[in-house]
Amino acid sequence: MTDAARKIDVIDARPAFAQADADALNARFAGVDTLAMLQTLFAEAKLGNVAVVSSFGTESAVLLHLVATVDPSIPVLFIDTLKMFPETLAYRETLIELLGLRHASVVTPDTAVLAEKDANQLRWSYDPDGCCAIRKVEPLARAKRGLDTWISGRKAFQSQTRASIPRFEIEDGRLKINPLGDWVKADLEAYFAAHDLPRHPLEAEGYLSIGCQPCTSKVQPGEDPRAGRWRGWDKVECGIHGSDGDKSELPVF
Ligand code: SF4
Repeated sequence: MTDAARKIDVIDARPAFAQADADALNARFAGVDTLAMLQTLFAEAKLGNVAVVSSFGTESAVLLHLVATVDPSIPVLFIDTLKMFPETLAYRETLIELLGLRHASVVTPDTAVLAEKDANQLRWSYDPDGCCAIRKVEPLARAKRGLDTWISGRKAFQSQTRASIPRFEIEDGRLKINPLGDWVKADLEAYFAAHDLPRHPLEAEGYLSIGCQPCTSKVQPGEDPRAGRWRGWDKVECGIHGSDGDKSELPVF
């Protein structure tokens, strides 16, 4: 058998993307308008299986509008922890209809795991990290298994823990795109106004960053927008971003 023939049998187990790819994309799209960047990326069709992950929170409409402008058939995943505000679920329906999102789906926690690990549904009150692990991290890891690329709505200005967010990064061999990573609050506000996008119904009540109902409180004037998340706990992220994302591939309960 020739060497050329043998290569056919080789299973390419390399991750779809490597850090060099993210570096190249960051350099290529530096300073490029966000919509133009997304239009180029999807026109080139080199992202593999791709989906947007959205919390349908206070600023989610901007990314979803951008994506829908490029292609409303791009899948949009929502992790429903089963602890969401009813207003968030209603807002999701509003945006899906308004933006014409054609492949919006919901991922929920594993019912057997919930029965075993959170039978009284109060784990958030004594072990929020464990609760996030079973209600957010594991469902997202499950949803990401078939993806080569996922698109996140993270913004650097949201808190000190997100002070620097590249547009492109690598997690678990997947490309992660943060189209709004360098947007500031004024950019978002201008986009909402320019496209007459509806606001999350709880924003006017003082909820500036909205997650699960038990772990989200109103933000006072001058506070970090994410100060209302897990108030009173030494916890600022749910574990689905950054290095915690790597752990999410494991069955962490
Ligand atoms: S945010 Fe709170 S309720 Fe939601 S998964 Fe995390 S700990 Fe549980």
